[in-house]
Amino acid sequence: MKSILVIGGGIVGAACALRLQAAGVQTILIDPGDKRRGASYGNAGHLGPEQVTPWSAWGNVLRAPQSSFGMGGPLDFRWSDVGLWAPWSMRFLAACDHSAFERGRAALTALLADALPAWHRIAELAGAPDLVIPHGHATAWMTPHGAERGLAAMAKAQWGATTYREMTASELERYAGVLKRVPTAAVQVSGTGQVSDPQAARDAMLRSFAERGGEIVAGRATRVEASARVALADGTTREADAVLVCAGPWSRALMEGLDVTTPLIGERGYHLQSAETNWPRDLPTTVFEENFIAVSRFTTGLRCTSFVEFGSPDAPGDERKWRRLRQRIDELGIAFEANPDRWVGSRPSLPDFVPAIGRLERAPKVLYAFGHAHLGLTEAPITAEIVTAMATEKTPAIDVRPYRIERFR
Ligand SMILES: Cc1cc2nc3c(=O)[nH]c(=O)nc-3n(C[C@H](O)[C@H](O)[C@H](O)COP(=O)(O)OP(=O)(O)OC[C@H]3O[C@@H](n4cnc5c(N)ncnc54)[C@H](O)[C@@H]3O)c2cc1C
Repeated sequence: MKSILVIGGGIVGAACALRLQAAGVQTILIDPGDKRRGASYGNAGHLGPEQVTPWSAWGNVLRAPQSSFGMGGPLDFRWSDVGLWAPWSMRFLAACDHSAFERGRAALTALLADALPAWHRIAELAGAPDLVIPHGHATAWMTPHGAERGLAAMAKAQWGATTYREMTASELERYAGVLKRVPTAAVQVSGTGQVSDPQAARDAMLRSFAERGGEIVAGRATRVEASARVALADGTTREADAVLVCAGPWSRALMEGLDVTTPLIGERGYHLQSAETNWPRDLPTTVFEENFIAVSRFTTGLRCTSFVEFGSPDAPGDERKWRRLRQRIDELGIAFEANPDRWVGSRPSLPDFVPAIGRLERAPKVLYAFGHAHLGLTEAPITAEIVTAMATEKTPAIDVRPYRIERFR
């Protein structure tokens, strides 16, 4: 293959475009250009190879009522989008079946095993090795009851290639300077990390892509044809030897145009970010489990993220979610600006929480990489290596059959 059109310039598209161009495939990246639109802009920046367990699990179904927004939890459904999430939920329940769940866990374990090394490799390729900060992450509890429950759940969970240990009293003391009080308990996870800033990571990849001769087209694809011709909203068309669909949750419409069942939904999350912060750079991303927030220190400031709200990726944000997030930040006593940056965006989620990565069986000129759900930042570089191997007729490092989109009928 000599040339390829990459549709979507989120972190998955940016990583794939850079890898493909570096491998000698003339690559054209098509994206409308609004950097805040996709989850790649507003995420928590966590490189999380520990998350080998799919969210499609009966335990999550049983916990759903107490996790709901109305009960103070992070889970919500946009009623006006019931037509989207009701059929998706039926597939989600089917994916909770024991054998489907175990297949999902095996697929995520294989993909995540080399995810952090793949981040180091692509950061080197982009000439920005400092993007990756491999200092692990933490989960903290503010009450004895929360700590007891949380630690028990951690002991039962699978951890992939990562490990954890309880923090010592002096490690917990580090939080005294940034919280109202020191957590009751916390664990330090090793083998995980963070990026210095999610948008900076994408920018570095796109810069290196352009420097290597890659072309960026500002536009929105409206139709993908099996022949690898792509129609754009401005009425023009582009053609190449192949096309890669990686437009996050918006991949659904493009794939359905090719008659491919693609049950993607927007699993929407929110952030508040304060440019001013006293949170030290070397205090790793910390999840406050009872408060349902993740706190991440980036070069651009301190970001707090939360919520899983099912609905359309194009719906406006819900003011109550930002208010709740602010309440959680104040409860913990985190120093934050009065008017922080507010953002909402969608995780592109398939019902089994396994991404779709592959080549269409009925239309082999069409490749795809979307549906990375909660782990798109973590998995983007390893996905890019797999896609590039497929595009250049090499054997990918892992068996790609579990990621076929054709698993959905
Ligand atoms: C609150 C929150 C926190 C998260 N935290 C983490 C984390 O800590 N670690 C982690 O690994 N993951 C995290 N995620 C998940 C991660 O952010 C996503 O999985 C990832 O960003 C998805 O990347 P993407 O490139 O597939 O899609 P997107 O980021 O959605 O990018 C898609 C791109 O395609 C473009 N596009 C759309 N339609 C078209 C079209 N028709 N033609 C051309 N271009 C188009 C869009 O404009 C966009 O630029 C988080 C997500 C959220 C919401």
